[in-house]
Amino acid sequence: QDLFQSPDYFLIDELLTAEHKMVREAVRQWVKSEISPIIDDHCQRAVFPSHILKGLGALGCFGPTIPAEAGGGGLDYLAYGLMMQELERGDSGIRSTASVQGSLVMHPIYTFGSDEQKRRFLPRMATGEIMGCFGLTEPDFGSNPAGLLTYFEEDGDDILLNGAKMWISNAPFADIALVWAKDPEGKIRGVIVERGMEGFSTPETKGKWSLRASATGELVLDNVRIPKTNILPGARGLKAPLSCLSSARYGIAWGAIGAAMDCYDTALRYAKERVQFDRPIAGFQLIQKKLAEMITEITKAQLMNWRLGVLRNEGKATAEQISMAKRNACETALHIAREARQILGAMGISGEYPIMRHMMNLESVITYEGTHEVHLLITGMDITGLNAFS
Ligand code: FAD
Repeated sequence: QDLFQSPDYFLIDELLTAEHKMVREAVRQWVKSEISPIIDDHCQRAVFPSHILKGLGALGCFGPTIPAEAGGGGLDYLAYGLMMQELERGDSGIRSTASVQGSLVMHPIYTFGSDEQKRRFLPRMATGEIMGCFGLTEPDFGSNPAGLLTYFEEDGDDILLNGAKMWISNAPFADIALVWAKDPEGKIRGVIVERGMEGFSTPETKGKWSLRASATGELVLDNVRIPKTNILPGARGLKAPLSCLSSARYGIAWGAIGAAMDCYDTALRYAKERVQFDRPIAGFQLIQKKLAEMITEITKAQLMNWRLGVLRNEGKATAEQISMAKRNACETALHIAREARQILGAMGISGEYPIMRHMMNLESVITYEGTHEVHLLITGMDITGLNAFS
C-alpha cells in the first residue's frame, strides 16, 4: 500500500515549507511501518505498545518545539501540528503519549524549571529514555482544577506530598510525574515526583472502551518525601498548568483532524469499491452527502489549524483561539468517524478497519484537556466578557 496522502482540497500544502513536509513525511512513514501493523491488536488487548517509545523519541516527537540547545527538536508549531496529525492518524493513544511527554511535562520543565531540572530531565525525555506524566485531575476536581486537594507541607530541605490524582495518561509506566499540588500558602505548584519514592504508586485504570492502546492510571501520593529542588521554581498558581494545557490542546486540534482524515480516506476508498444494487455505493447521493460534508469539515478545520499555527509561531495565538480549534477539531472528527462508520455498514465495526477505534478514542479526546462544554464556555466568556462557569 502506498504512503497515505492527506486530503488537501484547498492546496494548503502550498503554505507549508519543505521542512514541514519532510517532518510530516517522516512521521507518516514511521506510523505506516511501526503503528498501523500493530495498533488494532494492541487496542483489542488494551495494551500500550511500550516498545515504540524509543522510536517516537528518535523521530523527534517528544518536545519538538523546545529549542535544540535545551534538548528539544527546535521545530516550529506548524511542524509540531503536522507531527501530531500524523501520529493521531495512527491512533489517538499514540498521539496522547507524545502530547503528554512533550507539552505537559517537557514544556513546563523548560518554561518553569530550574537549570538543574532542565539539564537533568529534558535531554533524556526527548529520546524517550525517561517518560513523564502530568497529574492535574483529581477524583473530585476535573473541570474545576482550582479546587484541587493534593497538598504538601515543608520539612527542612524536603516536602511531604499527599493526595490522589486520577485519569492520568502514561502514569502506569512513567518514570516521573509532574504533580500539581497546593503549597502551605494554598498556591498551586508543580512538583516532580520520581518513580521509586516511598509512598508513590501508579495503579492502572482498567476497563476503558476508549484509548485502549494508551496506559491510564492513578497517582497515589501517601506522605511522599521529595527534595525541594524538585519543585518547579517558576510555576505559581493555576496559570502554569493551564499554559501547558494550551500547548497540548494545540496539538490535539491537529491530531483529531488526523484521525478524521483516516476515517474519511477509509470511507471514500470503501465506498468506491463496495457494490450494492449493481453500482458502487459512492454513486448514491446519500453516501456522497456524507463524503462531501466530511471533506468540507476537514478542509475548514485544516485552515483553522494552519492559521492557528502561524499565529502561534508569531507568539500571537490566544488560549481562547486554541480552545476553539480544539473543540472544533474534536466535534468534527467525532462526527466524521460516526458517518464513516455508517458508510462501511457492518464492516464499520470491525477492527479490520480503523474507524471504530478512532471513534471510541475520540470520545476521550473530546473530554480530556478541557471538555467540549468547557471550551464552549471559554469562547462564550471571551466574546461576551461574562463568566458562565460558576
Ligand atoms: P467533570 O468536570 O465532572 O464534568 C462532567 C460533565 O460536566 C462534563 O460534561 C463537563 O463538561 C460538565 N461541566 C463541568 N463543569 C461545567 C460547567 N461549569 N458548565 C457546564 N458544564 C460543566 N487529566 C490529567 O490531569 N492528566 C492526564 O494525563 C489525563 N489523561 C486523561 C486520559 C483519559 C483517557 C481521560 C478520559 C481523561 C484524562 N484526564 C487527564 C482527565 C480529563 O482532563 C478530565 O476527565 C476532564 O478535565 C473532565 O473532568 P471530569 O472527568 O472530572 O468531568
